[in-house]
Amino acid sequence: MLCAIIRRNGAGSGLRQTRYGLHTTMAISEQRVVVIGAGVAGLAAARRLRSAGARVTVLERASAPGGRVQTLLVEGCRVELGAEFLADFYSRTLELVRELGLAGELRRIPRSAATLRAGRLYPLWPNAAAALTPLVGPRHKVALSYLVGALARHGSRLDTHAFHKAYTLDDVSVAEYARAHLSEEVLEYVLQPPLSGIFYWAPERTSRALLFLALRAGLSRPAGMRLYTMREGLGQLTAALAADHDLRLGAEVETVTPGPGAGYTVHGRAGNLPFALTADAVVVATTASVVPRLLPWLDDRRRAFFSAVTYSMTTLLAVVVRERFPRVTYGMLFPRRETPFLAAATLPTVKNSGFAPPDRDVICLRLSGRAAAALRECSDETLACLMLAELRRLAPGFDPAPRRLSQRLYRCAEALPEFDVGHFHRLQAFASGAIEMPALAFAGDYLGGPFIEGAIISGERAADRLLGRLRGA
Ligand SMILES: Cc1cc2nc3c(=O)[nH]c(=O)nc-3n(C[C@H](O)[C@H](O)[C@H](O)COP(=O)(O)OP(=O)(O)OC[C@H]3O[C@@H](n4cnc5c(N)ncnc54)[C@H](O)[C@@H]3O)c2cc1C
Repeated sequence: MLCAIIRRNGAGSGLRQTRYGLHTTMAISEQRVVVIGAGVAGLAAARRLRSAGARVTVLERASAPGGRVQTLLVEGCRVELGAEFLADFYSRTLELVRELGLAGELRRIPRSAATLRAGRLYPLWPNAAAALTPLVGPRHKVALSYLVGALARHGSRLDTHAFHKAYTLDDVSVAEYARAHLSEEVLEYVLQPPLSGIFYWAPERTSRALLFLALRAGLSRPAGMRLYTMREGLGQLTAALAADHDLRLGAEVETVTPGPGAGYTVHGRAGNLPFALTADAVVVATTASVVPRLLPWLDDRRRAFFSAVTYSMTTLLAVVVRERFPRVTYGMLFPRRETPFLAAATLPTVKNSGFAPPDRDVICLRLSGRAAAALRECSDETLACLMLAELRRLAPGFDPAPRRLSQRLYRCAEALPEFDVGHFHRLQAFASGAIEMPALAFAGDYLGGPFIEGAIISGERAADRLLGRLRGA
């Protein structure tokens, strides 16, 4: 078998054919584990496995690690292609940042995001100060107190490190829940803008269990959630996580087949060259949609589990300009009642002024999930024109056109896994052990929660489960 890898990172030799049967009596240091996917979930799993002594190889189809956490340089300005911030309730992520020696690189985001209604910006709820703003009238604020009571009643099931525990709340969508217990106004101006602007989801396709979990996390500090970025952007975190691993970039896995023994053979391509790698155990840390293709021999029940996970879409337009924008907010969320097209606009230099040279600025516009899906056949040029025209109409003070230096458009076909009604029941099935196999574990934000913290937790837990099985526990 011809084996090849186009780029690699870290120690070790090129891919080799190896033969290790699975012996649970074998020391962990003799076990080879292949991790598929170098997003934060895969990298966190690899780190945990390696520190337990396993010989770990990470295979990543892209030319850089990080998956949906990528910081790009556009005309000297730092732009986040995927994740934009870390939040103060990401306890494991922040611990990992410290373990990696990056605590000094964290930068607190100084301003809140805001919802735009009729040309006026209102600080993002949940935040105690936001409760005082007139985004919605007093009658609707009273309706919100019902939500606070519900959160208190269900508190024991709302654990951001164990989403499956909320499965008993996975009965109606956010839209159905809000219409029955809150108000249309609260749905459209308080709940929908962050769901769309942060996750690219619609309240009709989001479980109320997710809403409760997000609110619980967001309300955990009375003064409001604190958000962080890093000195060089969040790509700094994934670069540090990826360092020193046996990481093979440009290596796309095509299938994973059982055997030899109790292990697996991982088949793929690096450039035009096929490779095959045998392993005692495998962690599949891709998006859920990839799993049925990688494991064509899965039984119907497991295949249905992965196939049921759907993803929102978005498109990013980054526009670099000659002078700085007003510094009132780091991000604007757009209610769908105001625009069906745009979900959000962010100003990276408000998060961290070092993200652009002093004489430049950048604004990042995001299409809503629904618009990105409906307009996916449109050319880049048409999409960019539409997005800029919408911004001009909604917030003319942020129109970049008169000062524009350059712009770039990026499409994201799989942005966030949808935590729709039914997903928490799927997570409960996963937590009960109904999906994994002895030497095969799964990781990703669709299992741990739709954010960096969820992906990291899922990766570390996948590693712990595999280590337990490899040790014969
Ligand atoms: C636009 C956007 C904004 C976001 N904002 C935030 C935010 O502000 N804060 C936050 O905490 N989270 C945010 N997120 C979510 C966060 O980025 C994700 O939850 C997290 O990065 C998911 O990590 P993961 O490892 O599970 O998946 P991924 O990052 O998708 O990693 C999977 C990896 O597997 C690789 N892969 C797939 N198939 C194969 C194959 N066949 N062979 C080899 N490799 C393969 C992929 O290339 C990828 O690198 C955002 C996401 C997006 C898209």
